[in-house]
Amino acid sequence: MAEKRENEKLRRLPSVDRVLGMLEEGKENGLARNLAADTVRSVLKDLRERLKKGDGEGVSILEIVRMVKKQLNTLQSAGLQKVINGTGVVLHTNLGRAPLGQRAVERLQQVAFGYCNLEYDIDSGERGSRYQYVAEKICRLTGAEDALVVNNNAAAVLLVLAGLAQGRQVLVSRGELVEIGGSFRIPDVLKQSGAQLIEVGATNKTHLQDYEAAINSETGLLLKVHTSNYRIIGFASQPELKDVVALAHRHHLPVAEDLGSGSFLPLSGAKGWREPTVRERLASGVDIVTFSGDKLLGACQAGIIAGKKMYLDQLKKHPLMRALRIDKLSLAVLEGALLDYLWGNPLETVPVQRMLHRSQEALSEQAKQLADGLSACLGDWNIGVEPVMSMAGGGTLPEEPFPSWCVAIQPPGVSTVRLEQYLRTYSTPIIARLQEQKLLVDVRCLSEEDIQVICHACRDFSEEENSKRGEG
Ligand SMILES: *Cc1c(COP(=O)(O)O)cnc(C)c1O
Repeated sequence: MAEKRENEKLRRLPSVDRVLGMLEEGKENGLARNLAADTVRSVLKDLRERLKKGDGEGVSILEIVRMVKKQLNTLQSAGLQKVINGTGVVLHTNLGRAPLGQRAVERLQQVAFGYCNLEYDIDSGERGSRYQYVAEKICRLTGAEDALVVNNNAAAVLLVLAGLAQGRQVLVSRGELVEIGGSFRIPDVLKQSGAQLIEVGATNKTHLQDYEAAINSETGLLLKVHTSNYRIIGFASQPELKDVVALAHRHHLPVAEDLGSGSFLPLSGAKGWREPTVRERLASGVDIVTFSGDKLLGACQAGIIAGKKMYLDQLKKHPLMRALRIDKLSLAVLEGALLDYLWGNPLETVPVQRMLHRSQEALSEQAKQLADGLSACLGDWNIGVEPVMSMAGGGTLPEEPFPSWCVAIQPPGVSTVRLEQYLRTYSTPIIARLQEQKLLVDVRCLSEEDIQVICHACRDFSEEENSKRGEG
């Protein structure tokens, strides 16, 4: 009996064609029609499963059409989208790290819409090198003899290790066996490169003698790693870089340094720690440095290798080079950012630099502006301007608080958790920080336009809540 009833329910489900007939999508033959038909089939299949379990009875054909449309909508719209960064973390890896400047985007547009001379030398009419355009600019900015760019800094480190020390030993201080997010660990990268890791020193202290004692005929490279996301403090020390370099060169060995952020301009935080610049590290005699394109540099994902020509020539010939190579769009963006450093005022035109160097006055002024905008339309909300501590993020100045200003928001009679969720899922998502009963919007990374959107979003939230209350 039960089985018969179940069959009856299943038979009452509409046919694929009937549901398709009620959709605007997929009217034309072709891919869109297949997509629509597949989606209808999958929704009906789910429903069939539910009916077998005694669930989903009485779902109307209109509801089925709605379910199909919802799934098709997700496929029709772009998932990767702009968000508003109210966290105050300038280099937020989950939010795409560095926003681009005007010049970088212009370069991208120039190159993206047509053909370009990526590997074509216009003067000679012959094959050229894709690295030549950025290499010279990087050299001018850092004092390097030569430069090379790959997909990201992780790839740059891998290439340097594989290219200079495959089958040989690489000495790394125990205090510098870094793990950064996304499971990039120096020991693992070393293993992948085919080089052998030799740990020297202790976690807190490494002496020059530790390196010296570990050098033997199998040694291929000394690797220094910038501890970009942690600090070892207290009874701790590392030998001077120039002494490590002198030791290595005495043994005819190269020194490479993974700088992580790799800044062109000096940057220091409230506690006085500073990020080393690429130029000063190279000036200390390091043979090769590697760093990211989308951290302090403020461009796109890229890994820059800068240093002595004889080592870079070796890397250029390595088979991994082809697998790790950078694409033309990234090169265009990177070159735009490099032009900003060379000829512009990067503190103004490179967004990451501008945001990191904003003055306390400018930040508190903008926080007041946002608070006034919100108060003007949300009279009964509790809105205040407060100082906050943010972080630079992206493996830059760890443990260094970056003092900033925020607007603290508390809507009346609704949980702040609900407001946070509403803003996060707004048409332009707004990412803010919940702290106790308040929602904190740090203004460091906000544009004028973002401020308008935040005001609109909060007003929309308030209107929706009020209308809900009115109905209830
Ligand atoms: C960020 C970082 C990397 C990885 O750089 P990506 O460009 O993200 O690949 C490697 N090493 C250090 C020390 C870093 O800080």
